[in-house]
Amino acid sequence: GKELGNGCCQHYHFDMGAQVSRRVEMEAELRIAIEEEQFILYYQPQVDFNGCIVGVEALVRWQHPGRGMIPPMEFIPAAEESGLITKLGEWVLQTACRQAKKWQDDGLPPIYMAVNLSARQFHQQNLLQVISQTIEQSGLDPQRLILEITETVAMKSAEYTTQVLQTLRSMGVQIALDDFGIGYSSLLYLKKFPVNLLKIDRSFIQDIDTEPEGGSIARAILGLAKNLQYTVVAEGVETVEQLNFLKKLQCDQMQGYIFSKPLPSAGITELLLTMLR
Ligand code: C2E
Ligand code: CA
Ligand code: CA
Ligand code: CA
Repeated sequence: GKELGNGCCQHYHFDMGAQVSRRVEMEAELRIAIEEEQFILYYQPQVDFNGCIVGVEALVRWQHPGRGMIPPMEFIPAAEESGLITKLGEWVLQTACRQAKKWQDDGLPPIYMAVNLSARQFHQQNLLQVISQTIEQSGLDPQRLILEITETVAMKSAEYTTQVLQTLRSMGVQIALDDFGIGYSSLLYLKKFPVNLLKIDRSFIQDIDTEPEGGSIARAILGLAKNLQYTVVAEGVETVEQLNFLKKLQCDQMQGYIFSKPLPSAGITELLLTMLR
């Protein structure tokens, strides 16, 4: 309330100004960061029922020259708002595809490479062109690429989504619906979209341990999704309880700290090498 005193009011305005200038500063820094390629991709393993690595998800980090490693939640929103995400997203896609191709060329076990697409990227005009060009230039088998879009982004304009996803599928690319469950979409409605995988949001995995009726959403999603022949991936699996729960429900794939945190490429190479032995 502005009536509560001058100090409070001034403080409020001061903070607003600081927030705006921080954002402007962040944008300027991001611009430089993209030019100078200050980003690095980490990769988090996705394992199947037997604990074998079947894929990795590429997760971007900013190696800031002064502030060290910055997690994506601290700069993706600014990149998204400023439109810089399209440039950054292209770098991510290119780097991820090249890395996957390199693992393939080095004779390591075949795995999927999952790449996140933000809302703005998904709606960028030359999206399909960028993706097809990147795949072609990298030489990666498109079947090995999974693009992740969130359930919320997919639902926003169903017609556009269907069209884009159909084209991507015709290119051989697989599609995952990320953060699934928080948008409350009807699974039957989802059938419209040519999607291969559903990633159950971390919150529904976490509640297996913490809520009295924990896991009921995960169970419901798994039950229906299996009937509809989606591959289901559980995100953010951290505990043995969660793991056992998901195994009992025959969840196809899992990802989370209990298996591995996101790792630099060398860490994944090592894991893949141990699979060869
Ligand atoms: P997301 O796509 O849902 O990615 C999963 C996030 O959960 C990652 O956080 C991952 O490190 C974290 N995670 C994995 N397992 C566990 C676990 O067992 N426990 C907990 N507490 N967390 C776990 P990260 O890397 O910080 O990324 C956060 C979000 O930033 C991502 O969420 C995604 O929305 C976005 N993001 C990351 N990289 C990219 C990118 O290259 N492009 C775009 N557009 N967004 C990205
Ligand atoms: Ca994701
Ligand atoms: Ca997710
Ligand atoms: Ca998420």
